[in-house]
Amino acid sequence: MPYSYDDQNIFAKILRGEIPCKKVAESTHCLAFHDIAPQAPQHVLVIPKGAYVTYDDFAQNASDAEIADFTRMLAKVCAQLGVCPTEGEGGYRLISNAGPDANQEVPHLHVHILAGTNIGPLTAKRT
Ligand code: AMP
Repeated sequence: MPYSYDDQNIFAKILRGEIPCKKVAESTHCLAFHDIAPQAPQHVLVIPKGAYVTYDDFAQNASDAEIADFTRMLAKVCAQLGVCPTEGEGGYRLISNAGPDANQEVPHLHVHILAGTNIGPLTAKRT
């Protein structure tokens, strides 16, 4: 069963202004807001405004302008949070869960920015 876009997902509702979010930044093609259940002292989600389900969907089907804007937004938010190692700051982890094996909960592409402490091992061992 292919993973498809459901415009009733919670992030689509945030984008339509139907439910609130704690906005961090916004651009032409994306929105960044605080995760409602933070898993680190700093936990921000960056989403495209377009209807993309996963990173592979976005990378294959979004325009160059959307992809550039999304990538720049990740950098902008990291700078805003003060976590860029290139600036001598502590660092961050980007995570994008895609599909059932990654336990993706919300079927609208999002990248988690986790920071503010040592984030620990990459993942639980599965081998
Ligand atoms: P994922 O498991 O990668 O799909 O992550 C979905 C994330 O969305 C989780 O970290 C949730 O805490 C977060 N989330 C769910 N609803 C909201 C909401 N209304 N505002 C902000 N974050 C949310």
